[in-house]
Amino acid sequence: MSEIKLLSKEVSELIAAGEVIDRPASVAKELLENAVDAGANVITIEIKNGGRTYMRVTDNGKGISMQDLPTAFLRHATSKIADKNDLEKILTLGFRGEALASVCAVSRVSVLTKRVSDDYGTHYEIEGGEEKVCEQSGCPDGTTFVIKDIFYNVPARLKFLRKDSTEGNYVAEMVTKLALSHPEISFKFIRDNKVELLSAGDGKVYSAIYSVFGREFAASLIPVNYEWKGIHITGYTVKPLESKPNRKFQNFFVNHRFIKSVACSCALEDAYRNQIMVGKFPACVLYIDIAPDTVDVNVHPTKIQVRFSNEGLMHEAVYFAIKDSLLKNDKPREMVLETRRNFTQQQLYGVQPDSGVQMKFACADEKPVQPKPQPQPTAAYVPPPQESFDTTPAAEKAQPTVKSVVESVSNAVAQKEPEPAKPQNRVTVEQFNKFVSEIPLPEEDNGGSFKYIQKQSFEKVPQQAAPVIVEEQEQKPKPVVIGELFRTFVVAQCGDDMILMDKHAAHERYIFEKIKDEKNTLDPQMLLEPVMVVLAYDEYDALAQNVDKIRTLGFEIEPDVAPTVAVKGVPIILGDQNPTEVVSELARNFIANKLDPQVEIFDDLYHSLACKAAIKAHDKSSLVELQALLEAVYDNDAIRYCPHGRPVLIKLSKRDIEKQFKRIV
Ligand code: ADP
Ligand code: MG
Repeated sequence: MSEIKLLSKEVSELIAAGEVIDRPASVAKELLENAVDAGANVITIEIKNGGRTYMRVTDNGKGISMQDLPTAFLRHATSKIADKNDLEKILTLGFRGEALASVCAVSRVSVLTKRVSDDYGTHYEIEGGEEKVCEQSGCPDGTTFVIKDIFYNVPARLKFLRKDSTEGNYVAEMVTKLALSHPEISFKFIRDNKVELLSAGDGKVYSAIYSVFGREFAASLIPVNYEWKGIHITGYTVKPLESKPNRKFQNFFVNHRFIKSVACSCALEDAYRNQIMVGKFPACVLYIDIAPDTVDVNVHPTKIQVRFSNEGLMHEAVYFAIKDSLLKNDKPREMVLETRRNFTQQQLYGVQPDSGVQMKFACADEKPVQPKPQPQPTAAYVPPPQESFDTTPAAEKAQPTVKSVVESVSNAVAQKEPEPAKPQNRVTVEQFNKFVSEIPLPEEDNGGSFKYIQKQSFEKVPQQAAPVIVEEQEQKPKPVVIGELFRTFVVAQCGDDMILMDKHAAHERYIFEKIKDEKNTLDPQMLLEPVMVVLAYDEYDALAQNVDKIRTLGFEIEPDVAPTVAVKGVPIILGDQNPTEVVSELARNFIANKLDPQVEIFDDLYHSLACKAAIKAHDKSSLVELQALLEAVYDNDAIRYCPHGRPVLIKLSKRDIEKQFKRIV
C-alpha cells in the first residue's frame, strides 16, 4: 500500500485556514479589511466572549451579488486582482482571496448582503466550508457578516486561545489599527454590548488618534510631514518627554496598511537617540506613502510584514521625517552675542562701540534680528555657544552691521588659523572661541569675578574664554541659584518660575554637546600595533568597500583575510579603548546604509566619556559652580535631556505654588 496519500479537502482546508486565522482577531482583521475594500464609510464590529462565540461586522459598502456570493468563499477567489501584473500595484488591503475560505472552514458563517443596484439582498449561510442556506432576503445596502463559534471544529486551536478578555483585546487592537489607517471611515467597536470605540470618520488623522488613544496621547504628539526621494511621510510623533514604556504605540501605515517593519522602527528610534530615557520608546502614527511597486505586501499570509525594494531608503525617509519634526518643534530660541564686559567691541570685533552690533545664532529659517542697544551682562559665567555662527543671512537679511562683524571675525580667525578650509561664510564655535580666548585679558580684569569663576569653579566644564550671550528679548529674567537639594538638584529662581535642575544630568549633557562639537576628536591616532578584529562577513564587506569614508572618521583600517580587518589607527576620542566594538558598529552602520554614520557611531562613546567627566549627584559643589552650570544650560534648548534622555530641568511656576498653598484659587 502506498505511503503517500493526497489529503482530503477538509484537512487541507483546515491547514490552509490555519495560516490566515489563528484567533478571533484575525477573523476581525479579514472582515474589517474586506469592508474597507468594499468602500464603506461606516463600519461596525461587535463581539461577544472575546469574539470566540460571536462576531458581527456590518458595513455600508458595495455589497455582493447573489451570484458571486458562493464564489467569494472559495479559496483564491477575489475581485481585487485579475492577473500577475496586478500583484505589483496592490492598493487594496486584500488580494489573496483566502480570507473568506479560511474563515468558513473553521466557523459558522452567515451573511446578509445587498448591492445598491439590486432590489433584493441575499442571505447566505456556510458552516465548516459547507453551504447551508442561499436565499433572497430584504436587507439594507452593504454587507453584514456574523461569525459564530470560531474553531468549533478545530479543538486543538481552541485550546490555544487565551481568556476571552485577552482575545477581545486583540480584536480591539485590530480595530484601532484599522481606524487609524482609515480616518475617513467611522468605526464602531462594541464588546459585550458596550460601545468601546467610535471614531469620527471625518478624514482627520488627529480625530482618529484622539478617539483611539484618548486626549492625553493626542496632546503628546507633534506633527510630521516630510518628503524624501518619492516617499511621503505624514502623521504624528511623540514629544520626547512623553515617550512610552514599550513599542506598542509605534504605528506605521504603508499605503494605508498597518505594517510591522524593523527598518521603520529602527529609524524612528535612531531619530530619538539622546532625547528619550533609556528603557522608554518613541510612539508614532506615521503614514508612509510610496509607489506600490516598491513594496511587496505578498511576503506573509497576514500581510502585516512587508518588504521594501530599498530598505535603506525607507530608513532614511523615516529618520529624516522624525528628525525634521523634532527639530521644528524644539527650535532653539533666538539668541544674540554681546560683547563681553571686559572687552571693547573694537578688541573683539574690530568695530567701534555704539554701532549696535550683535551676532546671531544659526537657525536657518529665522527672521532677521534688528540690532538693538546691548543690555549689560550680569552673568558670572556664560558658556560658549553650542552651534556654529551662521553668517549667510547677512546678505539676505539686509543687515550690513551683522555682516561686517561676522566678516571681521572670519578674517581674524582665518589669519590666526592656518586650518583646512571650512565652508565659506561659516565660523565654527571652535574658531570663534579660539579667537576670543587668544585676546589678552585687560590688566584691570585680573582677579575680577569672571576670572575667579573660570579658574576656581566649574573645573569639570571645559574652560574657554566666554563670549557673553544674552537673549534677544530685552531683559529676560536671569536664573539665580537659591541652593541645592540632596546634593543632587539645584534649586533656582528665574522670574516667576522655580527651577529644579539635575546637576549631573545637566553637566553630562553639556559635556556631551561639547565633545560632539569638537570635530578634532575624530583626528586619527596611529596604533603601535594593529588590532586584528574579526567581523561578520557582511560587516567585513561593508568596511572593505568604504575604506576611504572610514578614514574621514579617523579610522585607518585595512582588510585582511576575510572576515578579519587590521585596525591601524583610531580617532583620538577612542583613547586607548579597544576598538573592536566600535569597528563592528561602524560596519553595521554602513550596512544599514545610513547617510551620516559618524553621528550615531560615536554617540555611545561620547555618552560614556561625558558621564565619566561630569559632576555626580552627591558631589560637593559650590554655589558659584552651580550658578555657572545653570546659566550654561538654562537657555540652551539642545540641553533639555541628558544623553540618556533624562530631563535636565523642570520648572514650577509661582502661580502653581501659590495654588498649592491656596493663596490663589
Ligand atoms: P480578498 O479580500 O483577498 O479578495 P476574501 O476572501 O477576503 O478575499 O474575499 C473574497 C471576495 O469577496 C472579495 O474579493 C470581495 O469581492 C468579496 N467581499 C468580501 N467581503 C466583502 C464585503 N464586506 N463587501 C463586499 N464584497 C466583499
Ligand atoms: Mg479579504
